[in-house]
Amino acid sequence: MPQFDTLTGLFSRRETIACVEALARDCGIEHLAIIDVELLRFGSINNAVGPDTADKIIKTAAARLLKQFSHVPVIGRLHGDHFCLVFTQSENLEDEISKLLEFAQRPMAIEGQIIVLGLRLGIAKGNASLCDGKTLVNHAEIALNNAKRRNLNIVEFSPTMVLEAQQAHEIENDLRVSLFINSNELHQALTNNEFELYYQPIINIARKRVEYFEALIRWHHPVKGLIPPLQFIPIAERINIMNILGQFIIDRACLDAANIPEMKGYTPGISINISPSQFQDAEILLATLERAIQTTGISSKQIQLEITESTEFCHVLEDSLASLKDLGVKLSIDDFGTGFSAISRLIELPFDCIKIDKSFIRDLVCSDTKTRNKAEKMISGLIRIAESIGLNIIVEGVETKEQLALVGAFGATLIQGFYFAKPMPFDQAISFRIEEETV
Ligand code: C2E
Ligand code: MG
Ligand code: MG
Repeated sequence: MPQFDTLTGLFSRRETIACVEALARDCGIEHLAIIDVELLRFGSINNAVGPDTADKIIKTAAARLLKQFSHVPVIGRLHGDHFCLVFTQSENLEDEISKLLEFAQRPMAIEGQIIVLGLRLGIAKGNASLCDGKTLVNHAEIALNNAKRRNLNIVEFSPTMVLEAQQAHEIENDLRVSLFINSNELHQALTNNEFELYYQPIINIARKRVEYFEALIRWHHPVKGLIPPLQFIPIAERINIMNILGQFIIDRACLDAANIPEMKGYTPGISINISPSQFQDAEILLATLERAIQTTGISSKQIQLEITESTEFCHVLEDSLASLKDLGVKLSIDDFGTGFSAISRLIELPFDCIKIDKSFIRDLVCSDTKTRNKAEKMISGLIRIAESIGLNIIVEGVETKEQLALVGAFGATLIQGFYFAKPMPFDQAISFRIEEETV
């Protein structure tokens, strides 16, 4: 008896794998291809609308998949918001991917709300060296996880990903071990632990001075050496330890802020990254920040918080943002342009500053005219809007004099990037001086 998923009526995970095994025997595994589909932003929508409505979204998505992809031999629900489409060689995979992307853009009307989901795809193609269909299903899942880690929408499996997935697993273990030590001997560990904040200057080119130093965490692993934050922060978030790490970051950054010497009659501030997951315990975040500001004696005006653009902050974080603002700190949206916020909505939130994502600055010097034009419009448009409503703009990722000249011509004054300086240890950062010929 085939097993079906009770919510959607699609094949269950077990049945999907059994079907892939059968198809591999009948047609040859080298003729199969699998697309794993994850509904984007489903987690945050689930939190916002509750489980019953979330179930309706899953059911609607499944029904639509069945209707629109009726020619596909196997469609299964692997778990949660993960679906799996199994193709035989007869289909043209590129066309199917395009259809899936179109499919994702069709809005759903669920209980009076219009919901547009977006998709993330992990693709695996069969080859004769594969021993079984289960491995092929697993490869599509590895590709999907890889896409998630790199924040991409579509990724095709390659064998190196198996090793990368193992490494991610090892880092997760090490992180657990490392923080286990910290939680036993937290105070002691804070002074000699493996985490360090590096600082990168954010420069005001009009005033020729450092406005802020952005604190960027580094992990000095005793065996693996320096591990960059994008390798361990997503894991720290997943295993719910971002708050402990976040407390260390805030305490350290405020302590460092208190030790920044005056530079030409002015003391630069510190910009601290706050992960959206830290807002799950917003009270801890607030209390940590309040205590750190009090014990170090710094002015709250010296602190800017950078919060990555995400759907969550539009819905869930509004009150927390207001409380943070009451503390007197500045609030900035990080990586603007990579998420899904409407500028009109952001204006209603108490932000002081927008940091334009570095991908737009990279695109400014891209050889493709269309991409370049798009980046130009985005940057110049944002700077104009920001000016008119009294928001600051920080342009990050400026690597060359050419990029600096371009963004300068659009009216940007706050600049961060390798062109001026890479992130560096605190002692080096505070001796950083802007060289006259660079601005
Ligand atoms: P972010 O907050 O957008 O930080 C800027 C990142 O861009 C940094 O990478 C910085 O080294 C890099 N960057 C700066 N200028 C340039 C440039 O000109 N070219 C290029 N290619 N890159 C440039 P990093 O330090 O690896 O940090 C990556 C991300 O990890 C950060 O992005 C932030 O989202 C997260 N992160 C780092 N430190 C922390 C932290 O203390 N707390 C939290 N919650 N997240 C952090
Ligand atoms: Mg940042
Ligand atoms: Mg950024």
